[in-house]
Order: sequence, then structure tokens, then C-alpha cells
Amino acid sequence: MLAVVYQGKGLIKVEDIPIPKIKSDEILLKVKTTSICATDLKIKEFGHFKNPLDKKIILGHEVAGEIAEVGSNIKQFKVGMRLSMAPNIGCGVCDQCVSGQSNYCEDYSAIGINLNGSFAEYMVIPEEYIRQGNIYLLQDNVSFEEASLAEPLSTVFCASEAVEIGPKDIVLIMGAGPMGILHVMMAKLRGAQKIIVSEISKIRSEQALKFGADLVINPQNENLKEFILANSYGRGADVIIITAPSKKAQEDSLDLVAIQGRILFFGGLPKGQDIINFKSNIIHYKHIIVTGTTGQSILQYRKSVELIAAKKIDLKKLISIRYSLSEAEEAFKNAKLENVLKVMFNV
Ligand SMILES: [Zn+2]
Ligand SMILES: [Zn+2]
Repeated sequence: MLAVVYQGKGLIKVEDIPIPKIKSDEILLKVKTTSICATDLKIKEFGHFKNPLDKKIILGHEVAGEIAEVGSNIKQFKVGMRLSMAPNIGCGVCDQCVSGQSNYCEDYSAIGINLNGSFAEYMVIPEEYIRQGNIYLLQDNVSFEEASLAEPLSTVFCASEAVEIGPKDIVLIMGAGPMGILHVMMAKLRGAQKIIVSEISKIRSEQALKFGADLVINPQNENLKEFILANSYGRGADVIIITAPSKKAQEDSLDLVAIQGRILFFGGLPKGQDIINFKSNIIHYKHIIVTGTTGQSILQYRKSVELIAAKKIDLKKLISIRYSLSEAEEAFKNAKLENVLKVMFNV
């Protein structure tokens, strides 16, 4: 089978390797669709701390497919069932895992990071994924492509729950890459009264408007603070979500937020460059909540698939280009383009 294999920093290769054999407690998934994430691009360039020896590994974690084979101990799943799956698995016993928030487990594993992932014709679903509920059987009206995108959607859902976006909120989203666009869609779904996007790329700003942003601003051309105040009854934004890996955006956010507003850092800063200057008195005197999220709980993942099934959100529009696995090199290159949102492998 074909697989996109990480070879060490800077290099991926499409290899022809044997179809993996499953054990009695595992499932073999025939991958149908799998999309490229910023995490895949980052791993290709810099590796991942979960793979300290920089071992070869099949990348990919945004996946949907059909069961090709089940181990002899598996009773509840059958060949031919359509599914997608939450990509991370916690240890199962720490407080975070027990409370259902395995995305904060310090001992997590994940396909495409330290377990072989979905950029392949077939993928083994390990026992823990089956036991801990990562698998979601798809409704007939959910396509494989949409189900692959449930993963990025669920990380955004996780963030939106943390800052509890609702109809009373004017929301500012800083950065309109694919994740910024998903935040626009989610804020809209949650009924935010106004969605403002700050983005320096013209193409991305235009995309944000198409996906439901009410206003866009280029902070390099206009004064962001004046713009936000002018468009929020002089209050500032009630919720600010920063998707761009930008120190300046994080620092600026405190000047843009309303009294008792919430700020969420969605994108991490590059390793070793995460010290920022913060006017901490603003937090104190204005009762600001500054928070962050990463990944998703398995429940948030399931609910994200359900939002797709209920036709509350149309993720198909996010797919910019489709490739076969053999075109992985080009797919990775093009995933970084300004005008590209999601890149999908049809396997
Ligand atoms: Zn992802
Ligand atoms: Zn744990």
C-alpha cells in the first residue's frame, strides 16, 4: 500500500509498504479521505516532541474510512462500517482522562504523531482507541470528506466552549487561515452578534467574508484598536480568539478586549519564543479572562460529527484541493498557500 512516511526533519516520502497486520483487539481501517493539518506541515519541518528519536512514521490524523478487517475479539464493529475517529488517546487513568479531557493528558499518544497515521491506504486502529470511544460510526448523510474535517472542527468547538461564545458577543478573530475560518463558522453557529476578522492577507480576508465574517480589517493598514472600538459601541471585543502564531497579536489583544471579556490563545507560539509583554493591570482592573485550548475531548469530537450530520455547518466549502497519496509532496507544498484552506487526500 502507499503511505506518506515522515523520514526525519524536512523530509517526507511516499513509500510502497505492506498492509499492516492487526492483532485480535484491533481494527484495520481502509482510509477513504484524510486531510492535511498545520500540525502535519510542522512535523514535516521540525519533528515532534512526542517522537524524540525522530523515528519514521506515517503522518496524518484527520481521517475517515471503512472497516476492512476486525480482530477476533472485536464484537461491536463489523467489516464495511463507516467511521471517523478522534486522533488522540490519553493514558486513561490520570485526572484529565478520567474527567473526559484526554486532550490535556500528559501521557497522550496520537496517530500521525507517535503512532502510524492516516496518510496511507490502510491504518491500524489500536485497541485503546476502540476501548476509549474514539471511533464514531458515521451517519449515512455524512460524507467521508466532511468526517475527516470533524477533527479540526472539534478543536475549534473546544475553544468556543471555553469562551462560551453567544448572541451577546462581538467576536474578534485574529488570523484567517483555515482554523480562523473555522472559528468564523463556529462563532456564527453559536449566534455571535458580530464577527470581526483581523488578517493581513487580502485573499484570506476575502475568504473570511465569504464564510460569514461581518467585518475584516488589515491591521497593517488601519489602526486595529480604533476600528474595534468604532465597531463595538466603544466597548472592545467581548471575545478574542488568536489563531495566528503571533506575539504581537497576543500582546495587542489586551488593548482590544471589552471589560469582562475573554481572550483565547488558539495557536501556540514557536518553541522558545513564547515570552510576551502583557499589561497585567488590564486583566486585574477589567476582569479579563485569558485562556487557551488545544485539541478536543472525545465528546467534543463526537458532537462535531453530529453538527455535520445535522447540517449545522458546511465543511465541504473548506476543501480547496484534492490529491492522491502519490502526490503528497505537492500537496504539502500547496497546503501552505495563502489561498488554500484544506487539502484533502482521496485515498
Ligand atoms: Zn488536525
Ligand atoms: Zn491521562
